[in-house]
Amino acid sequence: MKKIQCLEMSGISKSFQGIPANQDIDLCVEPGEIVGLLGENGAGKTTLMNILYGLYQPDSGQIKINGKSVRINNPVESINHGIGMVHQHFMLVQNHSVIENIALGYKETPFFFPKIKIRKKIELFSKKFDFHIDPDKKIWQLSAGEQQRVEIIKALLNGADLLILDEPTSVLTPQEIEELISILREMKSKGHMIIFISHKLDEIMEICDRVMVLQKGKIVGSSDTKNTDKKSLARMMVGRDVVFNINREKLIKGKKILSVENINVIGDKGLLALKNISFELFKNEIFGIAGISGNGQRELAEAITGIRPISSGKVTVNGQDITNKSPRHIYDNGVSHVPEERIRFGIAPGLFLYDNAILKQHHLKKFSRRYFLKYNQIKNHTKTIVNKFKISTHSINSQIRNLSGGNIQKLILGREISEQPQLLVASHPTYGLDVGATEFLRKHLLELRKQGSAVILFSEDLEEIFELCDRVAVIFDGEFMAVLDSDDKRFSDIGLMMAGSKRI
Ligand code: ATP
Repeated sequence: MKKIQCLEMSGISKSFQGIPANQDIDLCVEPGEIVGLLGENGAGKTTLMNILYGLYQPDSGQIKINGKSVRINNPVESINHGIGMVHQHFMLVQNHSVIENIALGYKETPFFFPKIKIRKKIELFSKKFDFHIDPDKKIWQLSAGEQQRVEIIKALLNGADLLILDEPTSVLTPQEIEELISILREMKSKGHMIIFISHKLDEIMEICDRVMVLQKGKIVGSSDTKNTDKKSLARMMVGRDVVFNINREKLIKGKKILSVENINVIGDKGLLALKNISFELFKNEIFGIAGISGNGQRELAEAITGIRPISSGKVTVNGQDITNKSPRHIYDNGVSHVPEERIRFGIAPGLFLYDNAILKQHHLKKFSRRYFLKYNQIKNHTKTIVNKFKISTHSINSQIRNLSGGNIQKLILGREISEQPQLLVASHPTYGLDVGATEFLRKHLLELRKQGSAVILFSEDLEEIFELCDRVAVIFDGEFMAVLDSDDKRFSDIGLMMAGSKRI
């Protein structure tokens, strides 16, 4: 197969149920080039890339490789043309090892499993692009960054000259982002082409040579990154100026809402994931939990919201003991939850938008009477969330799985915030949101705080933590390294503490 010297998409259009997702899009990439694709949630970025990867067929337009028009009917054909894609949600079999997963997707895998050959290839590619991966580890034992590397090796092994990365950094730790950037630079220097979808403008500016901006399915701008800046890109994307730094008003904290006393919790691997964690949280307060993912954040959120058993210790909300109570009981006591894994735990993908808008709330009087749901009220409620959060959807009667990733996240946030919770447990709430929606959400969290709610914010984004939180606990290996007030001088040490190298 000939190497890709030039890839062109021209006049690409695609509609779903008559609603355009891509309109007359032109895009071209050349060897050694990293092209950024930017756009609001639902702008059509993933759809365009799914067309290039053969997952969707365009309604019109053509794809040319090295000047020759090609029709890409499915991902196998795309791979055969030298195109690879790393999706937003990884496509790996969790109980299989790295080698087995790579063999599964390897186009030259014969009938018998060529373990030695694949191991050698993994070693070769790890060396060539300067990264390490243990071929015998099971996928569930790997961090998000390592899983992503498996996806990248899968694509490279299949001879990808062009690699599409759909929001590759949203699930990575700051350290893993640095590693990914260096892998991409290495690929670029070896002549690979990369299309990089991201909402993080700093990254786009750092990595990409060129950036294209999509709005409502159309290209509204394109520029070399050296000739533009963050502000102009944001304006091009959302059609207005975006405020990157939000002011947090000083508030006097109110009465105690949450008390966590010496809780111990077992993680998925059967080991202690939280060790003697204690803290209190008050009205009008945002309490940040900063840490590199995998250090107990998920277990803490799940323990408080009733999804994971607490082995010892006690949790109370407004003085009521909620330790090991059901998620519904805890929800009814005023605790809302935006989970880390939105598709697995935040929604029911096959149900309609309006069903998803009342998950956990269907028993409330305003939504049901005896055994019957009040669909008019439910639909009106859904429309209010859709309008308030500017969710891009054809209809509230469509299955939520058809929404773009960021719009799914907006619906979950709308649902969890709409009932004005006493306590909101929010894990990475801005994950996958575009810059405009991120600004909106952050302002909304501050508004919730002003109105008297308490918020626990799990985040790896230090900027977000500094901007929103009144107090921050740094979590490492299931323990709090420190709990600091936002005006504490030691705040600048949070990065070091996240890596476990300092305890106060
Ligand atoms: P995000 O940043 O939130 O991931 P995006 O720019 O990648 O957004 P797409 O996923 O391409 O957006 O979605 C573009 C539009 O197409 C959205 O309105 C979405 O609801 C719609 N869409 C995508 N796939 C389907 C589908 N299979 N059926 C119906 N509509 C779809």
